[in-house]
Amino acid sequence: MSARILVVDDVPANVKLLEARLSAEYFDVMTASNGTEALAICHRAECDIILLDVMMPDMDGFEVCRRLKSDPATHHIPVVMVTALDSPSDRNRGLEAGADDFLTKPVSDVVLIARVRSLTRLKMMTDELRMRAITSLEIGMQAPERSAVSDTGKGGRILLVDDRESSYERLATILAAEHTIDVEPNPTEALFHAAEGNYDLLIVSLDLNNFDGLRLCSQARSLERTRHVPILAIADPENSTRLLRGLEIGVNDYLLRPIDKTELLARARTQIRRRRYTDHLRDNVQNSIEMAITDALTGLHNRRYMESHLATLAEQASTRGKPLALMILDIDFFKSINDNYGHDAGDDVLREFAVRVRKSIRGIDLACRYGGEEFVIVMPETDLHVAGMVAERLRRSIAGEPFAIHKGAKRIEVTISIGLTTLERKGEAVADVLKRADTALYRAKHDGRNRVVSQAA
Ligand code: GH3
Ligand code: MG
Ligand code: MG
Repeated sequence: MSARILVVDDVPANVKLLEARLSAEYFDVMTASNGTEALAICHRAECDIILLDVMMPDMDGFEVCRRLKSDPATHHIPVVMVTALDSPSDRNRGLEAGADDFLTKPVSDVVLIARVRSLTRLKMMTDELRMRAITSLEIGMQAPERSAVSDTGKGGRILLVDDRESSYERLATILAAEHTIDVEPNPTEALFHAAEGNYDLLIVSLDLNNFDGLRLCSQARSLERTRHVPILAIADPENSTRLLRGLEIGVNDYLLRPIDKTELLARARTQIRRRRYTDHLRDNVQNSIEMAITDALTGLHNRRYMESHLATLAEQASTRGKPLALMILDIDFFKSINDNYGHDAGDDVLREFAVRVRKSIRGIDLACRYGGEEFVIVMPETDLHVAGMVAERLRRSIAGEPFAIHKGAKRIEVTISIGLTTLERKGEAVADVLKRADTALYRAKHDGRNRVVSQAA
């Protein structure tokens, strides 16, 4: 997996050094020698990750980072601060500015590549989600970027997996200042606990007694319920090679003991903020998929979905030699409901109608709003006789109970007519099936409405 890395440093030799190492690992490298240039490149969305020198004339790295992270257009680009000074206060200034990670000069090759790889994975996933979520913006959903830039990262739910009492007590106390924290001292329970708890962050000690913390991390990565929960690993300095393994298997960030309080809080906030952002993106994608196939008023499937899905159902029925029934339902004199009681009352009737339809059909039946007050129900593995009974039950469920309108102030009688048929033979075009059902519906209307007419194939 390759990515385009922007290296920003005012000293040309430093740029060359990082460029050479990254190129050797087949990353695409771009360079900039000051903050202004770097911001322009990011704005043109030309890079995936930024390695940002802290000390630069004019605008320092902290300021560049702050600007990137407070701009909805660039806040999702991972920023790695590269600093000569490894003082905790420097790291913390960077993390406060929203930096995703830190590298200290001289930069170790292994750490550099491990971090860049792990951030590349993250960036690719976020890009994919962003791309799909763009459609949801077009249909009017809220932009996740807006809430992301103002998210403090506080108030998260954290699970801490650590079996050393002195350690977890200290960490839990620190974290409790900003988050809700649960401690799981038993690593064999941790995965279950993590899957059940809906956490925003897992903090896992890699120095557990008789248990491999990395195994826990990798299990958490493969389990559906915890796959997207960020993991922050904690390790003793002598365990740092295992940390690199951890980054490869999907640990998002790490801290070495002794743990600096401010740094712990800052790293936890960064992970939680990112988690909320990707969750929000994922929700938008999910919602836009649902909106694309759902009728907004009734919550039933829309015509487009029905037409594409009906073809699949018909094909399945033919190959398996099973019957497939289809009915068209049309509300009788619906126009006069609108005319007499208003359009809102008409909408109330349509909504309640959908509720009753859902109650009368099975989970595998497909109900959709085909047009204004016309609906289609497709019933797999159902012959004309059984479908006729379902249709009759539906007709009665509508005619038998008046519909509430005007917020329950009035109740009116509603009836429907139904045209019913089945798929005739292998390979029959679905358009022909629909046409036959429509002809049956026409007869039901003609014969006096509030009735079911079946049309055998
Ligand atoms: P018939 O018994 O022959 O079906 O008569 P009808 O009045 O039900 O049929 P017609 O097709 O003449 O009228 C359907 C009406 O449904 C016309 C249209 O304004 C109304 N309609 C379509 N969509 C909606 C909607 O979303 N909300 C409301 N309130 N009315 C709608
Ligand atoms: Mg009608
Ligand atoms: Mg009609």
